[in-house]
Amino acid sequence: MEKIYDTIIIGGGPGGLSAAIYAARSKMRTLVIEQKRKTGGQAATTSEMENYPGFPSASGPEIMDKFKEHCDKFGVEFTKGKVEKVELEEDGFLKRIITKDKTFVSKTVIIGTGAEPRVLGIKGENTFRGRGVSYCATCDADFFEDLDIVVVGNGNTAVEEAIYLTKFVNKVTMVVIHDQGVMDADKVAQEQALDNEKIEYVWNSTVSEIGGVDMVDHVILKNVKTGQESKFACDGVFMFVGTVPRSSFVEGLVELSPQNYIKVNERMETNVPGIFACGDVTDKFLRQVVTAAGDGAVAAVVAEKYIEEEENWNKKVKNSIDPVLVAFWSPIDSNSMEAMSELEKMHSAQTSTKLVKIDAYINQRIASKYGVSNIPTILRIENGEITKIVTSNNMNDLNKII
Ligand SMILES: Cc1cc2nc3c(=O)[nH]c(=O)nc-3n(C[C@H](O)[C@H](O)[C@H](O)COP(=O)(O)OP(=O)(O)OC[C@H]3O[C@@H](n4cnc5c(N)ncnc54)[C@H](O)[C@@H]3O)c2cc1C
Repeated sequence: MEKIYDTIIIGGGPGGLSAAIYAARSKMRTLVIEQKRKTGGQAATTSEMENYPGFPSASGPEIMDKFKEHCDKFGVEFTKGKVEKVELEEDGFLKRIITKDKTFVSKTVIIGTGAEPRVLGIKGENTFRGRGVSYCATCDADFFEDLDIVVVGNGNTAVEEAIYLTKFVNKVTMVVIHDQGVMDADKVAQEQALDNEKIEYVWNSTVSEIGGVDMVDHVILKNVKTGQESKFACDGVFMFVGTVPRSSFVEGLVELSPQNYIKVNERMETNVPGIFACGDVTDKFLRQVVTAAGDGAVAAVVAEKYIEEEENWNKKVKNSIDPVLVAFWSPIDSNSMEAMSELEKMHSAQTSTKLVKIDAYINQRIASKYGVSNIPTILRIENGEITKIVTSNNMNDLNKII
């Protein structure tokens, strides 16, 4: 028989691995699908990581190896593959996760596919990619030992990576689109960069072209205020101009932001029940290891609750042979408590229906799925369909639904 996972996590970065730890620890059958040979995501590509709490001086790969070790301890399964599509089975509960070679089935999906560097799309960028154009300082810094390089961008990543590159190269020139002294990076990073003697700046400028023979030997700088262009000699260009979310494989299935980030609520739920997302691929304010890990934890806990609710509902209500009275109540609402007490008395005097009480506050998703906005609400469900609704604690009304 086909193996059905409780959760399949797409992406083995900090978000995905954190979700996997929480899921597996709560005894969910958990699979992580990662396209790369090694897990760790973007975090494993940076040697400088000084802000992950509890690890003041560990590198990105060291921290990510610990995440993986933690997953192994709780029995998370891993497989290598690139997910190309996610589909819903007819009932919407089971999901098919499709890679090039295989299809997996799961009750929930947690998407933690992160983001990838944005390309500028300028002339020469693609031609010289890997021949002087790079998007990863940790991966490529040592190829530029004692050479002169240009860094494009001025956010935290650009500034931190520029500082890191100074350990290898002769000189870094940062090309910054803003006025002199203005950068998007936080103040601490900016101060470190401005104090670094190996970093020089070209303000109010962008790179409009990358040129060379076999390898990069110059860029064309464009002053955004004057429009003037000038040739600038260099041996390499590092691009840090933002990231693009890896969400195309769920386009048309889950709701995306205008920039193609996956929209989630505070419970990491997408608009599709049972599909969650975490980390850099989501539409959020701060994209860091610690926030991705936090998102992953939330997604896994909510995913577990989703399965419990759905399976409970299917077993007790949807698949029941007898008619079922589903009573939405809350222990903090006196009206609904009274209604429950009356309903229980009336119900115990007959045997033709089953009674299922649901705390509407704890089970908000199920309540909203069935359009319950008031409590008490009592639904009579026969063969999976709602046949009567009562929304009062009036004895006559309650009697009619039994
Ligand atoms: C150079 C650099 C330096 C950074 N420095 C820091 C720092 O100092 N501190 C900090 O907190 N953060 C830092 N960050 C940011 C941090 O790395 C990210 O916020 C974090 O890694 C996001 O985690 P994630 O799990 O959401 O995504 P990612 O880390 O991007 O992981 C996503 C994973 O999903 C996989 N994947 C993608 N698509 C598919 C698919 N279709 N099928 C299967 N697998 C797929 C990818 O291969 C990847 O392994 C840095 C990032 C970079 C690039």
